[in-house]
Amino acid sequence: MKELEARIKEDGRVLGADILKVDSFLNHQIDPKLMQAMGAEFARLFKDQGITKVITVEASGIAPAVMAGLSLDVPVVFARKSKSRILSDDAYTADVYSYTKQSTNQIRIDKRFLSADDHVLLIDDFLANGQALLGMKALADDAGATIVGAGIVIEKSFQPGRQAAIEAGLTNIHSLAKIAAFEDGQVVFDEAN
Ligand code: 5GP
Repeated sequence: MKELEARIKEDGRVLGADILKVDSFLNHQIDPKLMQAMGAEFARLFKDQGITKVITVEASGIAPAVMAGLSLDVPVVFARKSKSRILSDDAYTADVYSYTKQSTNQIRIDKRFLSADDHVLLIDDFLANGQALLGMKALADDAGATIVGAGIVIEKSFQPGRQAAIEAGLTNIHSLAKIAAFEDGQVVFDEAN
């Protein structure tokens, strides 16, 4: 998606060998118009596939997921990361290891919000090693839901996430921007996008 690539070029900052900081429009401050355009693009990519629900993980998946849900006209459920006293115990859970944070979080979705009747679209902000996507897949599988596909805002193609997802049986993965490499602090996009 050209608009997203231009924004990454303009505002993204490469940290170390493999992290892209995009907190001026996605991970901290949010650009609603760009989110809306991305939601419309996800809806175009996954239209006519019978999606009943969009699933994501808090916090950074929520903005693009809500916009996708708005365009697809379906509810959005975000998996929660912390166990709070107001969360029900009657939940699907999965452990997700985060390489960026170097810690494991349990993610959970209340059983009231995901069922075997659902056809779900999984959305996330980044695809890196694939752990978040596999965690969402585990929740959907536990519920007996059908996974229609996965929509990613930014995929780092040089990391093994897509391959891990495919090996786990997840197909139909679309990324709005695919990064082939970071070279001298600059983003190189995967032109096969
Ligand atoms: P994965 O589970 O695929 O390794 O990573 C997915 C999660 O890690 C994303 O939801 C995102 O929060 C975080 N993440 C991974 N790589 C990056 C990155 O380069 N930049 C930012 N901002 N977050 C990242």
